[in-house]
Amino acid sequence: MTTDVLERPSATQEIRGVIRLTARELRMQRRVTLLLTVLPPIGVALAIFSLWGHGIGTRDLSIMGAFYAFTGIGVTVGYHRLFTHRSFTAVPGLRVLFAVAGSMSVEGSLIAWVATHRRHHAFADEFGDPHSPHLARAAGLRGVLLGLWHAHMGWLFDSEKSNQQEWAPDLLAEPVIKKIDERFLHLTIMTFVLPALIGFVLRHSFGGMMSAFLWGSLVRVFLLHHVTWSINSVCHFYGKEAFKARDESRNVWPMSAISFGESWHNNHHAFPWSARLGLRAWQVDPGWYVIRFFSGLRMITGVKVPTAKQMEAKRIS
Ligand SMILES: [Zn+2]
Ligand SMILES: [Zn+2]
Repeated sequence: MTTDVLERPSATQEIRGVIRLTARELRMQRRVTLLLTVLPPIGVALAIFSLWGHGIGTRDLSIMGAFYAFTGIGVTVGYHRLFTHRSFTAVPGLRVLFAVAGSMSVEGSLIAWVATHRRHHAFADEFGDPHSPHLARAAGLRGVLLGLWHAHMGWLFDSEKSNQQEWAPDLLAEPVIKKIDERFLHLTIMTFVLPALIGFVLRHSFGGMMSAFLWGSLVRVFLLHHVTWSINSVCHFYGKEAFKARDESRNVWPMSAISFGESWHNNHHAFPWSARLGLRAWQVDPGWYVIRFFSGLRMITGVKVPTAKQMEAKRIS
């Protein structure tokens, strides 16, 4: 990434890199977003209801866990550490795998996600940040709640979108990645259909198919959505500040395992180019373990991590 992509503008500069959707585009965008954010919680309600008398089978649990891990790693290692921050280099096949896995998390197409996230770092918690909890125009508790709502998922419905030409020209110039980005709808359909198909194959019944769809598709997408969105809301609001960053980012240890290391968010904002987010040995960071694994196979190289001296220079506690 060229350094100017993540450069912080001065307060007097106009916010760059934002495009506004037309009324028609916005209507369409809001309908799709509403569908993809409301359907999973309906699935969760049905799943909870189905627990009475049925419980959850090990097959459904395994399908849910496998898809959660595959897509969650796709987001943190692929979308975030590889494509947004270029914190390591991967062989082409692995690059494609991470791009596909991340796309199957239903968190937006790869290039749109990267553009939004680079803008987040450039303006973190200041005017221009697409999802800061600190910019609500209301006082007191109302302002806090509005800010948290906006950072969590309200921003998804905004008419302002990050200009991909401006924030992710490197990825737009990569034909394979552009193709995967354009296949986002197909990959979204696949991420909902595949668990159901596996459920049918394993149990040879319509009931088996539906219950795998409920847990492996809807509940799984719901969980990963809210864990990812909590990084934008909770991890910019509450938790421990270990390093001096230019923003309100915080480390939230209870979320480290389920977020695959993403909740070491203060560490991340202090060293955004680092492939490792849990910077201490005890800081659980499954995304980092995946990077170490593939780096052992020589499929990942050029892994960037801060030196002890760099960490010392920014350490608060
Ligand atoms: Zn952040
Ligand atoms: Zn980041």
